[in-house]
Amino acid sequence: MSKELFHRLRFAPSPNGYLHLGHAYSALLNGKICADIGAEFLVRMEDIDQTRSRPEYVEAIYEDLKWLGLIWPKPVMHQSDRFPAYKEKLDWLIEQQLVYRAFLSRKEIKAFAQAYQSKTGCDWPCDPDGAPIYPDLCRQLSMAVSDQRATDGEAFTWRLDMAKAISMAGDDLTWTEYDFEFNPSIVKADPAAWGDVIMARKDVPTSYHLSVVVDDAEQDIDLIVRGMDLYQSTSVHRLLQKLFGLPQPFYLHHKLIFDEDGRKLSKSNQDTSLRALRDEQSLTSVEIEKMLGF
Ligand code: GLU
Repeated sequence: MSKELFHRLRFAPSPNGYLHLGHAYSALLNGKICADIGAEFLVRMEDIDQTRSRPEYVEAIYEDLKWLGLIWPKPVMHQSDRFPAYKEKLDWLIEQQLVYRAFLSRKEIKAFAQAYQSKTGCDWPCDPDGAPIYPDLCRQLSMAVSDQRATDGEAFTWRLDMAKAISMAGDDLTWTEYDFEFNPSIVKADPAAWGDVIMARKDVPTSYHLSVVVDDAEQDIDLIVRGMDLYQSTSVHRLLQKLFGLPQPFYLHHKLIFDEDGRKLSKSNQDTSLRALRDEQSLTSVEIEKMLGF
């Protein structure tokens, strides 16, 4: 596929903090590729986290992106407006018995992994993000028991039955990854490495993986340009695209920007926020671009 055949790219921040240099790199790269190949650049607000997302961060993100010189069509899609669309997909997964209610909290999963380690001397397996894989404790619960516990008010998430999902979708999933020269390579997806991933959190009928896949398809995104920190997640995305019968986008995962001590930038570090660089250190957007190597 030639790069001229890509039509639409997106920058999809989560408005739970101010944008930092790493976001600027990703947004500018998306914008520059679009300008280069004549594709459309979209912004999407990934605000499914109702406790951490705040309207003031949404406004700050628009302000920072404008300052960087980016323009995008409005209205912008907000994931918080799309819960019914996600619920429809979740309901399908429930109907197909591809998900089950998982009642262990994050703390309990961690305690389980520690207990396993002390008992056997072996480490409990972790997913590519370093979180312990969900233990096989809830998948076998009967629907009647699971329904009863939910009715009794026990908190739960919906988790994908990974083995079943792979057997339905096939274990030969791949994606096309582009480098900066637009040379393609085929990557074998490995969704099993994630174990039974969350499809819906306890408070909303969706998760990052479910909504990103649904929305990239809804918005006809054909090239996804995002940080390497999401490279491994692409395996889960390919699996969901296949299960839902959605088109397969192409991917380009770019390098991450680290701070002076080699740590990944985080939204809680105010020093590298774009507004601090602009308002306190009086940097211009041109200087930011230069700093980022554009
Ligand atoms: N919302 C995600 C983030 O802020 C990015 C999602 C994506 O690009 O797939 O990290």
